[in-house]
Amino acid sequence: MSEPGDILREIRINPIVPTESVLVATARGMRPKKAEERVERDTRAVVETCPFCRGNEDRTPPQIKSYPDNLDWEIRIVPNLYPVLGDDRAQTNIAFGLQQVIDGYGRHEVVIDNPNHGIALHEMGREHLASLFSVYQQRMAELYASDPRLKYVLVFKNFGAAAGASIAHTHSQIIATPVVPENVQNEVHHSREYHRKYSHCVFCSLIDEALTYEATIYDRDSGQIRRKINVGQYVVERGERFVAIKPFASRFEWEIHILPLQHQADFLKATSEDLNDFAQVLRRTMARLDKVVGGVQYNFFLHSVPHGSEFAGCQDSYHWHLEICPRTSIPTGFELGSGLFVSTVSPESAAQALREAGIDGG
Ligand SMILES: [Zn+2]
Ligand SMILES: [Zn+2]
Ligand SMILES: [Zn+2]
Repeated sequence: MSEPGDILREIRINPIVPTESVLVATARGMRPKKAEERVERDTRAVVETCPFCRGNEDRTPPQIKSYPDNLDWEIRIVPNLYPVLGDDRAQTNIAFGLQQVIDGYGRHEVVIDNPNHGIALHEMGREHLASLFSVYQQRMAELYASDPRLKYVLVFKNFGAAAGASIAHTHSQIIATPVVPENVQNEVHHSREYHRKYSHCVFCSLIDEALTYEATIYDRDSGQIRRKINVGQYVVERGERFVAIKPFASRFEWEIHILPLQHQADFLKATSEDLNDFAQVLRRTMARLDKVVGGVQYNFFLHSVPHGSEFAGCQDSYHWHLEICPRTSIPTGFELGSGLFVSTVSPESAAQALREAGIDGG
């Protein structure tokens, strides 16, 4: 276990998905990775030519829903103009030997998060964020109910060009697919294995560990303190019902996960009180990121237990969470080729910097 500031060079195994690992290499003089270019955020509230701004509703495909259902909408769902999956193709399942193809059937929708064009997540009110996640819930439930072939509904957000956002206006996306994305599949699989072995949820174990603020190891013979471990060093933000954690082995330098403190597999089961607390933890976490990293470009992914009978047994082993992945450096060829991500900031120092960042209350 390291202290912030130590020089590290170690390979850390992801405790949830042990087949994933990250090289933490913080030695000074190590060739730094190429930093993602800082782009000035467009902070304008309204842009006349923007299809997602209020008043330009006729520039998007016909809307699916808006909240409230009038021209003063706060959140609006529209079909994606360039869907990666669609329901406009005939079923064409083709399989030759080892080449398995599943039809690209699905839904791809855009959620216009906020009428304000350039607002950042941490600038949105707590109530607005709680409504946004409640809108995700409603839409996910509708999509799951609409077609049994849809196995997973992924909610994610790309913010900033480096994170893949093609339209500057703040928005997120919902993709319903006939397959469970590989990383969710891996988490589901490994957490089920862990549960089989230890009769405990691995995510809950990590939370327990993170909330144990200090452990002292005494020498059995002399009674002297041999080592002090500060395990709480991974907590970034805490609410009544949610905690934001800097994972011990994470792909991205500033990656943060937000999880419910009480075990819950399915995001759709979160109550409005839950979402209210979640919104607060998310806001404060994003404010910390903004303070430390500045104008951060990021992706977030909502991971929840997939629906369908084959996942019915995962209620005790899976634990829903939001993964926030800031894009501060460009992945190198080594990382893409080996699948071994390199982190040049130690997760302990990152968590400390985020925890100590002064943010406004509320
Ligand atoms: Zn706009
Ligand atoms: Zn759990
Ligand atoms: Zn996950």
